[in-house]
Amino acid sequence: MGEFDKAVVKASVAADVTAPVTAPATATAAPLLVLRGVRKSYNLGQRNECEVLHGIDLTLERGAFCAVVGPSGSGKSTLLNIVGLLDRPTQGNLALMGQETTTLDDAGLTRLRGQRIGFVFQYHHLLGAFTALENVLMPMLGDAGFATRAMTEHAAELLDSVGLTPWRDQLADQLSGGQQQRVALARALAMSPALLLADEPTGNLDTVSADAVFALLRHVNKTQGTSVLFVTHNPELAARCDHTIEVVDGHLLPAGAR
Ligand code: ADP
Repeated sequence: MGEFDKAVVKASVAADVTAPVTAPATATAAPLLVLRGVRKSYNLGQRNECEVLHGIDLTLERGAFCAVVGPSGSGKSTLLNIVGLLDRPTQGNLALMGQETTTLDDAGLTRLRGQRIGFVFQYHHLLGAFTALENVLMPMLGDAGFATRAMTEHAAELLDSVGLTPWRDQLADQLSGGQQQRVALARALAMSPALLLADEPTGNLDTVSADAVFALLRHVNKTQGTSVLFVTHNPELAARCDHTIEVVDGHLLPAGAR
């Protein structure tokens, strides 16, 4: 690891499970993400109610590049859904860049998610009947529903950054798996998110394509300071992240900085 990397790691200590809750002085000084005592139960109040996350404490500094590992069923996706504001904790607090989220209504959560968070999933969820460019444009359209010239240029730049300029007018379902995942990454970056959540984005790819997608995530992290939480079962890729957090039976085990 080079000096630059060490500096980034130092500045972005993740998985700090012991630090006390401190109210951030300003939103700009606040860590990217602070979870305190986050619990999640499914089927609340029913006979099959079960608690899946048992009080997660996590601080993620801005610019962190962090792998999330752990056995199947341990709660990784549940945690990612909560961090991504797709689901709410049953108990506990979650602040994103100094903004407490548990008091927001659904519209507030949706707004914050759209402004701050990008998602890349194992299955890319592209719209196959639309071109690569149109897929990247989608998150930018907003209420107006049409693309301005600036939006189209931005989408084209994003596709270029993932090496897909020659394929930009190709229908998404005519692209290879690796190319589709790169379109998904460009789409996730459309709104310049502060946090990119990647749930096994390389799980369905061959080694070369997986490597290319990982390298792009790394590049975005380094050049734009985008924080990345990256769920993976691949120990080699996890080892290339700055930090690893391990989820076991709904608890977080900090493995520390590498
Ligand atoms: P991982 O991503 O580590 O494989 P998950 O977060 O997907 O784990 O799942 C953790 C546990 O929560 C599993 O036992 C799973 O069956 C359960 N679970 C996940 N989603 C739901 C749901 N919507 N309703 C009920 N149980 C769920």
